[in-house]
Amino acid sequence: MTSVNTLIVQTPAASCDVELAKGPWEFDQLPGYGPGASENDRIPEPVVRPGQLPAAYQRMSDEELHARIRAAKETLGEKLVILGHFYQRDEVIQYADFVGDSFQLANAALTKPDAETIVFCGVHFMAETADILARPEQQVILPNLAAGCSMADMADEDSVEACWEDLLELYGTEPDADGRQPVIPVTYMNSSAALKAFCGRNGGIVCTSSNAATVLEWAFERGQRVLFFPDQHLGRNTAKAMGVPLEQMPMWNPRKPLGGNSVDDLESARVILWHGFCSVHKRFSVAQIEKARAEHPGVKIIVHPESPMPVVDAADAAGSTDAIRKFVIASQPGDTIAIGTEINMVNRLAAEFPDRTIFCLDPVVCPCSTMYRIHPGYLAWTLDGLVAGEVRNEIVVADDVATDAKVALERMLAALPR
Ligand code: SF4
Repeated sequence: MTSVNTLIVQTPAASCDVELAKGPWEFDQLPGYGPGASENDRIPEPVVRPGQLPAAYQRMSDEELHARIRAAKETLGEKLVILGHFYQRDEVIQYADFVGDSFQLANAALTKPDAETIVFCGVHFMAETADILARPEQQVILPNLAAGCSMADMADEDSVEACWEDLLELYGTEPDADGRQPVIPVTYMNSSAALKAFCGRNGGIVCTSSNAATVLEWAFERGQRVLFFPDQHLGRNTAKAMGVPLEQMPMWNPRKPLGGNSVDDLESARVILWHGFCSVHKRFSVAQIEKARAEHPGVKIIVHPESPMPVVDAADAAGSTDAIRKFVIASQPGDTIAIGTEINMVNRLAAEFPDRTIFCLDPVVCPCSTMYRIHPGYLAWTLDGLVAGEVRNEIVVADDVATDAKVALERMLAALPR
C-alpha cells in the first residue's frame, strides 16, 4: 500500500516542503494551511477548520486503516458514495466510486440519489456544493475539516459585497438598450457557498475550469461586463482566448479603494478580475516550459488554466483536469508529455500510461497542501463513525444560502463545456 511518505520519496524530484512527509494531523491545530502552502496563503479570520484526528487513528498502521476502510465500505454498501477529486492522493482515491474534476463530481453527486451519505474526498467548497445539490435527506461528509482551499479563501463574502456596492455605484443598476445588466458576477467553483449564493441572488453564475468559456458567453449575453472571482488566472486566460483585450481586464484588489483602479479603467472594463490565485498552479513558469522543450525535443505541453497567462501562452494546450486527462488519452505510445497541474494527478497519469513519458513541469514536487489533508486515517475515522451510527465532520450549508447558491449552480450545470 502506498503511503504519502513513499509517494514523496519515490518521486525523483525534491519535495517543496520536507514537512509533507509527516501526518497531516501534526498540523490540524496550526493557524494556516500547513506544509506545501505558499507563504502568501493565509486563512482569513475568523475561519476556523479544526480537524483533530483521534490519537488512536493517528497511531494506526497503514494496514489497519485500509482494513477498516474496506470493512466499513462493505458494511455500508449502497448507502455510501465516495467522491474523489483528481488531485487526491492514491491511498484515498482507490476507494472513490467516482473520480473526476469539480464539474464531474458535482454531477456525480446527483447520480446516486439512493445513497444516504456522500463522503467527499476533496476540499471544503466541493463538499459544500455536494450538500447544496444533494437531496435533503442525504448527508455530506468532508473527512478532514481542515481541507480548505487557499484560493477559495482569497475572496470572502464581505469583500465581494463591498466591491459589488462600489461597482453598482459606478455603473448604476439600469440595463442598456439591449437589456444587458451593467455587471454580472461569476464565481469559480473554488469559492464558498456564500459567494455562490451571492451570484445566485445577483443574476450570476458559477463556472468550473471545464466550462469557463461557456459561462463567460452566458454572462456576456446578459451583461455588459463581468466580475470574475476568485481566480484571476482562469478569468484572464479564458477571457483572453475569447478575444477580450488585456487592458479591458483590470484587477480588483479588495484592500485598495476601487480595487486599485481608476474610474476610467473600470468604465471600459469587460472583465474585472479578483486578486486570487492557486498556490499550486502559480508555481508553473515559462522557464520550466523552455527547459522541458530543450531537454525533450517534441514534448507536448499542457497546463491547467489556473496557471499564469504567460505559461498558458507558452504551452501547447491548456485545459481543466478532465481536458488534461483527455489530452493524454489522445496521445500516442512513445509520446512525451509535460503537464502543469497538481502532482498526484500527474503521477497517476504516468502510472496509467507507462508507454508514454509523462512528467510534471515543476521539478519541485508540490501537492495541493489542503487536498493532502485527506489522509486514510480521516477516511477510516469518518467511515467507522457511520458504521456506528455517528455522522462525523458533516458539512451543512444553511438553507437560505443553499437556496440562492443552487440557482447559480444549476445555471452552471446547464452550461456544458465546449
Ligand atoms: S489545487 Fe489550488 S485551487 Fe485546487 S484545491 Fe488546491 S489550493 Fe485550491
